[in-house]
Amino acid sequence: MTRSVSFYWTRIGLVALSYLLVLGLLFSQQAAQEFVFLIMMLPLAVTAFAFGPLVGVGFGLATGAIFTSLMLLNSGWGVISFGQPIFNMAIYMAIGAACGYLHPKEKTSDDEKQDAWEHALDIQLKLDPRGQVVDSNLRARNVLGTVNNLFDFVHPEEKELAKEHLEYAFARDEARWTLRVVDLNQQSLPVEAQLIRDGDLLMLELHDLSELYKIERRLSEAEARYRVVIEDAIASLDTGIVVLDRNQEVIYANDALGHILGVNHERLVGRDLNRMLEEAKPNFLSPDITEKIAQTSEASQMTIGIQNGKGPRTFDFNSIPISTDRYQGGRIDYYHDITEIKKLEKDLRQKTVRLEAANERLEAFTHVVSHDLKEPLRSLEMFSGYIIEDYEHLLDDEGKDYLNSIGRAAKRMKGLIEDLLELASIGRRNEPKEVVNLNQVVKDVLHDLEASLEGVTVSLPSAPFPEVKVNRTRVEQLFANLISNGVKYNDKEQKQIDVSWEQTGKAYRFCVRDNGMGIEEEYVGSRIFELFERLNPHQDNYSSTGAGLAICKRIVEEYGGKIWAESKFGEGSAFYFTLPRPNTKVVNHHEAVKNLAG
Ligand code: ADP
Repeated sequence: MTRSVSFYWTRIGLVALSYLLVLGLLFSQQAAQEFVFLIMMLPLAVTAFAFGPLVGVGFGLATGAIFTSLMLLNSGWGVISFGQPIFNMAIYMAIGAACGYLHPKEKTSDDEKQDAWEHALDIQLKLDPRGQVVDSNLRARNVLGTVNNLFDFVHPEEKELAKEHLEYAFARDEARWTLRVVDLNQQSLPVEAQLIRDGDLLMLELHDLSELYKIERRLSEAEARYRVVIEDAIASLDTGIVVLDRNQEVIYANDALGHILGVNHERLVGRDLNRMLEEAKPNFLSPDITEKIAQTSEASQMTIGIQNGKGPRTFDFNSIPISTDRYQGGRIDYYHDITEIKKLEKDLRQKTVRLEAANERLEAFTHVVSHDLKEPLRSLEMFSGYIIEDYEHLLDDEGKDYLNSIGRAAKRMKGLIEDLLELASIGRRNEPKEVVNLNQVVKDVLHDLEASLEGVTVSLPSAPFPEVKVNRTRVEQLFANLISNGVKYNDKEQKQIDVSWEQTGKAYRFCVRDNGMGIEEEYVGSRIFELFERLNPHQDNYSSTGAGLAICKRIVEEYGGKIWAESKFGEGSAFYFTLPRPNTKVVNHHEAVKNLAG
């Protein structure tokens, strides 16, 4: 062990300090004469403790001599006996020796080596050539207990191998191998053993591998679990997957691909792609196509028809280049069976065509019927009017009332037919859409309703209305219906209509609020928007058909929006509707069907 320079200086410093203290005491005459003998022991003790017994004895001799000289100086010869100096020196030397004995022993490098060996983390044993244990460290004793021979703790199945290594190490100076030992608790412990020859002895070091093995096992279990999950997932896909290396050779093919090609997928591994396809005879990818695909560094996609065991099938084929270092130049091809989707698409297309034809016929029929119905109604209305005008003198009051009722009923029926036609016409294919400035629309609507809005307070938002992409006539109809309802179904002296709007996500939300009679709670939901639904038929006049809100709903839904009402009976109602902001993709029912049908 090497001590630092400062360590020595610390000791010398301490010793010097003790001498200074004693000299100080002696010269300051503080100490009583009779204690000088004792006081001089202090620096001697410090010196002996700091530098060991040899220095202690030497300093004891010197201190005895100094003390005797002091005595002589003080008293002169003849006063002290001959034995006094000898006694003084003997006492001081004895104290020097005793304190020197207490001096902390410095460790040699051998001591340190032994210390490190004793407290090493690994099991360490010293063996003789026959395997007898000469010494063992703390860890060895803790793990193996007290053992006398190597073969006491080596696992019975490993004894032969251990013997061989022992002999080998003695002959060749070193041996290394892994073995199992049996610990104190009779548990088998995997260790890595190293035998190094040291003269007539062999140093055995055993490094415990059990933790390492545990971690390795856990890792490989986890890895195996994930591998199985992924392999199972890929294997159970109904999409055929094949991984090719840069030479177009199959590295991996899943079960589904085997089914598509009608061969066992395991047999495909290691084959050339073209030979594989040729053998399977599905005639869907010719060698020149595969060649072209192999030469591009981009993903390829095509729809291909295959005749396999299941009959004619359609596949979505994709080939993606692999960019990882290991498989650079290879590709992943996958074949996804889209036969059913294609069939559904075809069915849908055919159904859409049939539906459109049926719609056209229905439209034509509605027109014809409504015209034909309107004609006799007009006659009914006209002739009941003529009778009242021309034969008034022949009719009593009851007869006139009957005829007036016929006229009103005919008029109402005409209204119903017109509303029905109106409703049927919304969403006709060629209705033009444009970006409409709603400020102008609302202004025009208010102008058209001028007569009925007399005395009504109409408030508009301070911010200008936004632009929306709709059919202008329809959106005018929408605002007109809602605003006129707010006036029509209003029993208040001072009628009030508020029109407002705000932006909500991808849509604009509009609101037409009134302070009218309100709607009973049970009707506020969807019922109010049903066709010909009038909540109070007795109170509603004959011009009311109950189609207005149904028309509003149809218009809003045509543009992918929503309409709903909130109301407090007796206090007023608010009708909300949304319209998409221009250039946000709107998918309404018709468009979705058209898209799907291609
Ligand atoms: P119409 O076209 O005959 O006005 P609507 O379909 O517009 O019929 O309205 C249906 C029914 O809903 C009306 O008969 C009326 O009772 C009720 N209604 C509609 N708007 C309001 C409103 N703003 N306040 C109160 N009731 C209303």
